[in-house]
Amino acid sequence: MLHLRAAFVASLIAVLLLAAAPAHAVGLFDLEWSELAPGVHVAQRPDPMRYPVVCNTVVVIGDDGVLVFDAGGFPSQGERVLAKIKSLTPKPVQYIVISHWHGDHNRGIAPILDAFPKAQIVGHTFTRAAMLGAPGQRILKSEQAGGVRDTAAEVKKSLDEGKFFDGTPLDPAEKPFFERFVTDAVEHQAEVMRMRITPPTLTFDDKLDIKLGKRLVQLRHFGPGNTKGDAVMILPAERIVAAGDTVVAPIPYAFGSYPASWVSVLRELNGTRYKTLVPGHGPLQTDTTFLDLMGEALTLVASQVNAAVAQGKPAREVFKSVDLSRVEQRFTKGDPILQRFFGFYFRDPAIESALNVAKGIENEKLTEDPPVKTP
Ligand SMILES: [Zn+2]
Repeated sequence: MLHLRAAFVASLIAVLLLAAAPAHAVGLFDLEWSELAPGVHVAQRPDPMRYPVVCNTVVVIGDDGVLVFDAGGFPSQGERVLAKIKSLTPKPVQYIVISHWHGDHNRGIAPILDAFPKAQIVGHTFTRAAMLGAPGQRILKSEQAGGVRDTAAEVKKSLDEGKFFDGTPLDPAEKPFFERFVTDAVEHQAEVMRMRITPPTLTFDDKLDIKLGKRLVQLRHFGPGNTKGDAVMILPAERIVAAGDTVVAPIPYAFGSYPASWVSVLRELNGTRYKTLVPGHGPLQTDTTFLDLMGEALTLVASQVNAAVAQGKPAREVFKSVDLSRVEQRFTKGDPILQRFFGFYFRDPAIESALNVAKGIENEKLTEDPPVKTP
């Protein structure tokens, strides 16, 4: 009786401790796993808005080996994915597919590759070029030189001053988010120092089919969208699609993107008639509502930017004139953090990208410009 009571008290304490634990007690790279179909597992970091953002990972177990789609952007994430694969199957990892060149999808591959050195790294031809060229190298170099720590210092200053570095006031509801941003930056900067670039060893341009025994994996490039080399994975038998960052919820990322062409990528994704779509980040999609919303928003950006450029408006005027009020609330639901990041991650970079496309300026230049000579 006594020990039963002790057990009850112990479990009550455990429940109370759990309830009292703040949300940020969840580790930065802790992943939640679910099985979408037999042998198809997806990992998601809870809270997709937490910074740094962490991509969703899909593990597909075939008859003889394993394929991983977007194995991770951080070494700690790759280590967790590797541990999970080892707990699921003794089969070797044969393929590691990279959806696109952005580091949050591939700079955590190294631990998996070290464990399975024969694994092929698969990606679009452009993805390989961008990882080896200026885009991938430049960002890693600046982050390893302390870029993460410096950004955190800027955010800390904004918190102290009560206004953001773009001059806008900080809503009190935003404070916990940015306080956690500053705390997480220590671990983030340490991860960046451990990263290395592992470009694709097997590339494709439009499509590549991989047979994992009886299981068919289709990799497709539907044209420029989030990047010039987006690869999506289709499991036709299971009607599962992994979209990389052609779909990101709740707020899509539009840096260096191709808004008009991206709309047709979304149309192709809808055309696969998926049962489950795994976005690059954020919650799984089981219908087309969110993809339709993204298509509507990107169409609005592309058409308004093109019209403004045709009228000869200068860039500053174009930024002011684009009106996304018809869609913004459906992305943000009035949440102050989502409102701020709707501007940071989507509206401003989408407008800038569409402007570049309209003016023929390369969004993802593979080479560095020569340094400007001062007389
Ligand atoms: Zn991403």
